[in-house]
Amino acid sequence: MYPWLQTTYNQLATRKQENKLHHALLLQGPSGIGKTEFVKQLATLLLCAKSVNGQSCGQCQSCLLQKAGNHPDNHEVMSEKQIGVDQIRDAIKKLSGSAQLSGAKVLIIHAAHSMTESSANALLKTLEEPTANTYLLLVTNKAERLLPTIISRCERIAMPVPTFAQTSAWLIKQWPEPVDEEFIHLYANSPLSLLNELQQEQSVPYADFKRGLEGLMTQQINPSKLANDWQTQVEKLLKWLQFWLHLQVKKSPQLSPQLWQLHQEAIQAVKRVRNPGVNKVLVLNQLLTDISLLKSH
Ligand SMILES: [Zn+2]
Repeated sequence: MYPWLQTTYNQLATRKQENKLHHALLLQGPSGIGKTEFVKQLATLLLCAKSVNGQSCGQCQSCLLQKAGNHPDNHEVMSEKQIGVDQIRDAIKKLSGSAQLSGAKVLIIHAAHSMTESSANALLKTLEEPTANTYLLLVTNKAERLLPTIISRCERIAMPVPTFAQTSAWLIKQWPEPVDEEFIHLYANSPLSLLNELQQEQSVPYADFKRGLEGLMTQQINPSKLANDWQTQVEKLLKWLQFWLHLQVKKSPQLSPQLWQLHQEAIQAVKRVRNPGVNKVLVLNQLLTDISLLKSH
């Protein structure tokens, strides 16, 4: 279990042990903090026939099936785009019979906010009157998109976001090479995204990003050259720029009015490139141009 989720996990495990766990949980929190892994481990615990001290035993038939990914009483619904009503009806049908392994039944709904309105309505009755020994685990990073009727029938569990210290400590074990502290700050609240960024073959590593900015500020590199070099990842680099400007505001109080304005511009740029049809490189180029003018005042 990820260290920052351990306390939440223990609390749920204790309540399960005391038979005080709500049958419908809404696990909500931003992406990149480990919700998927969390809900899988929770499901394994709920299904385990011989759990000890809030831990699944890892050895019973249920745990072994779960490990192999084919437990007959563990049902999951997910979708790339929208969770359709048929997916929900299918899942509910599977829950209606008795458990194959005579234990609990679990239904996990990943990205629950992507249920259509009719999917959500199809789920309501089951949320209200679940079949015996059934747990419904809804996971979301966009709880605000869920119907209020769904939310009100679940117990909301806010998944904690790790601190910078927790992310750094965890990262050392996952990634042996030194990582720029700024880069950790950039993704501190989303450690899985951070690791993913490091593992991916980055077309623009953070060190190159900083070098590019340095060149820009000292007029060694012109903005359009940089915008062109970074054109394949404009969205990401605009977010990096937004973050970097935020850091500079804190670091250089004497420049802060200008930096603050640039930071606002970066926030707008991040939003603007989400619209289809926008020339993203042009947006990036504009921001880089404005940054390059910073020190010539
Ligand atoms: Zn077990």
